[in-house]
Amino acid sequence: MNFIKKHFPALGLGFLVLSATVLSFTRISGTTAKAPLTQKCLIVSDIHFNPFYGTTVGDSVLKKKLENASFAEWKQYFEGFAPQMAINSNLLFKDANYGVLQSALFNMKKRLPDPAFILIAGDFIWHGATPADSVLKKKCILFIAGLLKEYFPNALIIPAMGNNDTYGQDYALQDSKFLNDFASAWEPNLPGPSADSLKARGYYTAETGNLRLVVINTASLNLGSNYKPQADAMLKWLDNNLANANGKNVWILMHIPPGINAFNKKNFWNVASSDAFVHTIVKHAASVKLIIGSHVHLNDFKVVYDNARMPKPVALMRIVPSICSNHGNNPSFEVAEFNTATGNIVNETNWYLNLATIPKDKETQQLTWTDTLNTAKSLEMKGLSAVDFSKLIDHIKADKTGQMIKHYADFYDVGTKADSAIFINHATYMNYLKADSLREK
Ligand SMILES: [Zn+2]
Repeated sequence: MNFIKKHFPALGLGFLVLSATVLSFTRISGTTAKAPLTQKCLIVSDIHFNPFYGTTVGDSVLKKKLENASFAEWKQYFEGFAPQMAINSNLLFKDANYGVLQSALFNMKKRLPDPAFILIAGDFIWHGATPADSVLKKKCILFIAGLLKEYFPNALIIPAMGNNDTYGQDYALQDSKFLNDFASAWEPNLPGPSADSLKARGYYTAETGNLRLVVINTASLNLGSNYKPQADAMLKWLDNNLANANGKNVWILMHIPPGINAFNKKNFWNVASSDAFVHTIVKHAASVKLIIGSHVHLNDFKVVYDNARMPKPVALMRIVPSICSNHGNNPSFEVAEFNTATGNIVNETNWYLNLATIPKDKETQQLTWTDTLNTAKSLEMKGLSAVDFSKLIDHIKADKTGQMIKHYADFYDVGTKADSAIFINHATYMNYLKADSLREK
């Protein structure tokens, strides 16, 4: 402004007049700055970054080197080690290397440079890490958080913890040291009060506009876990929180989803916790606009139904696919567009990189991810509400041509042909559709 006034006085005056006009118009119309009708956010999950990629997991020399290295030295090491940089079909069925993590961030930034917020549904740590790797685990989370902050310095970042995100064994409840280190890693992009709650309890809320983001920790809920007092306390906290939503639209973020795992037909959570959660969601369904989980690395959904004689679909859970390709899936991230007044998703696109098309011997960097999967289009849906997803289940069940089963398999597999044969096909699809219902008891 000073520069304009000094060098272009007439232009500066013109700018002032224009500003005044805009202001008076605003006063006449009686509205203050209008919130945009829709906003877009990024949703990612299951990064499983492996600092040992291309070497032996647990390599003691490398472990020591990385434990004592700075953020810049981590980058330097990975950039100088070809297997860590190579983005090709070798990544299928493996954890993420630095190349694909960086490529994911580069493409997230390209598609949505200024997201309303970034949700990360957990599992940052590589598979096979042990309690003896705690120093490296801490550095790994700091490294990933540091990269996200580099690409999105001003974004609100909301992370959930996955089963691998613990200083204990896989699936162990996090100790206070982990909670402190994890929460600190995301500050200040994770706001102070949210970080404080995460440090104290492992779960928290964050608010932006008319949206309340509620993040729960599924470590105490997982099937076979022995943390009933912690699980009960958290579910009670969730119930209280939803009862006091005060007109805010609520999105709930977690790692392991409740309900049945179609892959092994077992429950994901302890049944009592799952039932209590579904009951709470039904009770507060007017506030709960979206539930997000991950863990399976593939694309799916669950519809929450009440316990009426004709069960009514009341809430929607989206299960988002992963950045790492450990389950034979392609690396991917979601861009979700939501209505700022209602909190409902209005459009959702998954961007992925088709690894099978990149030759193993080619080391490709600065790749643009061009493959997309639009949820509504690919599943022939009119909208993205719980009712729409409930209709989709009926549509797939009723489809005798096999076309809808194919669409569902393509959606589930995120462009990976290998998984269609392994997971969903004509013989198995009903297991998945049955698992896609969460019914109140
Ligand atoms: Zn997981």
